[in-house]
Formats: sequence, structure tokens, C-alpha cells
Amino acid sequence: MKLEGGCYCGQVRYVAEGDPMMQAQCHCRECQYITGGAPNMFMAIPVAGFKFTKGTAKQFARKDLEHPVTREFCPECGTHMTTRPQGFPAVIVKVGTLDDPKQFTPKAAIYTIDKQAFHQIPDGLATFERLPVRG
Ligand SMILES: [Zn+2]
Ligand SMILES: [Zn+2]
Repeated sequence: MKLEGGCYCGQVRYVAEGDPMMQAQCHCRECQYITGGAPNMFMAIPVAGFKFTKGTAKQFARKDLEHPVTREFCPECGTHMTTRPQGFPAVIVKVGTLDDPKQFTPKAAIYTIDKQAFHQIPDGLATFERLPVRG
């Protein structure tokens, strides 16, 4: 699968290739800050298949957390595009920044422990209080 996308103003662009390791909607409290309140729709792409092709994303990681994620966003328009978690070899791509968001098919709802009453989960979607247990 090949994904292309970028920020709202077009200054930063990326290409992501590979089989998504996860496609999901995340209901966690942190994502609510980033999305505007809704669950965050994302695809986890293997690190090796992801690269920025235009511009330089600004990086941010909280200094008050022991294992913060690194968030990447456009320094001009502020669009948050990607997140790099520690200890998981994936780039988390926000579906709203894809040129064609229809490439996304949600397979799971995660961190439903933080779900708000106004969040929707499609019928039949696998749900997890936190992360799916791998095994
Ligand atoms: Zn921008
Ligand atoms: Zn989240």
C-alpha cells in the first residue's frame, strides 16, 4: 500500500509505503487534544516505509513524561501529521492528512477507557480498553 499526504498548507509532504501494522480509531484523552475532541483515525506504517518528501516537520515530545511520543507537525500551519511512539517501529499517520483518506479502513477502536459519550464506534468494530493484546 502506498500512501501520500501532507499538511493543510502544503509546505510539508510525506510518502508512506508498506502494509499498515494497525488501522484504528483511538479514543485516548491525548488524541482528543490533537483531533478537536473526536477519536483520532490513524494508520501505523512501518518506519522503513515512511519519509518526508517536502519541507521539514517540526518535532515535539513532552519533557515531563518518561516515555513520550514524538509528534511531527508543520511549522507553518501547525497541522499534526504523524506520531512516533517509543518501542514500536511504526510511524502513526493521521488519516486526515492523507491525500485520499478513503484508503483508511478502521479495524479496531482502542483506548475506549477514555471514550466520550459523543464518540461513535461503528457496529462490529473490535474494541479494546487500551491496546490490543498481541500474541
Ligand atoms: Zn502546513
Ligand atoms: Zn490516542
